[in-house]
Amino acid sequence: MELIIGSHVSYKSDTQLLGSVKEALKYGENTFMFYTGAPQNTRRGVIDDGLTYQAYQLMKENGMKLENIIVHAPYIVNLCNDEKFDFSVNFLKNEMERCEELGMTKLVLHPGSSVGLERNHAISNIIKGLNIILSNQYQVTICLETMAGKGTEVGRNFEELKFIIDHVEYKDRIGVCLDTCHIHDAGYDLNDFDHVLEEFDRVIGLNYLKVIHVNDSKNIRGSHKDRHENIGFGEIGFDNLMKVIYHDKLDGIPKILETPYIDKEYPPYKEEIEMIKSKKFNEKLVDEIRRKYQ
Ligand code: FE
Ligand code: FE
Ligand code: ZN
Repeated sequence: MELIIGSHVSYKSDTQLLGSVKEALKYGENTFMFYTGAPQNTRRGVIDDGLTYQAYQLMKENGMKLENIIVHAPYIVNLCNDEKFDFSVNFLKNEMERCEELGMTKLVLHPGSSVGLERNHAISNIIKGLNIILSNQYQVTICLETMAGKGTEVGRNFEELKFIIDHVEYKDRIGVCLDTCHIHDAGYDLNDFDHVLEEFDRVIGLNYLKVIHVNDSKNIRGSHKDRHENIGFGEIGFDNLMKVIYHDKLDGIPKILETPYIDKEYPPYKEEIEMIKSKKFNEKLVDEIRRKYQ
């Protein structure tokens, strides 16, 4: 199988996609994920086609395929919310346009949080929003992320995502991003990943699975917390994550790390990817990364 692996990387206004590609290459990745601006806000700049072109050249030289690169929508967008509905829909329409301009075909989206709204109402807002956003010609698939079920998050089980997908008119451009930390925190048992995958296939269908977020979790199964941990250092564990990464049914699907920086400063991705490629857990990983940067 061909391992398609990368991490979340930055996208800065001055270097844009070129900067993201360079960062991913530094970590030894053959794909990556980025936000088209800061994840916590919706301010977005103009795309410089010159930088995009240079990024494409560099990708080509290094065997990175455009179709494996992922964009993540900012997490403050909430399609559930009545007051912010128009704003969120407009932002996501523009975000799809930006994806198209950059040549990106996969946009990961958190379905939303119902907060004070009745759950059914919140979910129908998500469906309504997606049907407006997808009513264009852009070849961009929106990948709904499986959520930990923190607070009032929608997408806390496969059934909720299935319900949304069932009501989206544009089935060819809707998909799912499976986050290992989130499904573990939501209660799925990664000690038996084959069973989880069978359930995913039965409820949603494996054909909808477009992206995998590979993260360990700081909390026990079913905690509904959503706190990522470095690979092999959390409650899921190295062997269980390796089963996900190398599962033959997930061959060809991009795997993206969103594990935390060491001491909130040092990116762990180069070392984590080396560990994944060698298939051997390195218990000294954190110390080695600290030493490298000091
Ligand atoms: Fe996410
Ligand atoms: Fe994620
Ligand atoms: Zn998360």
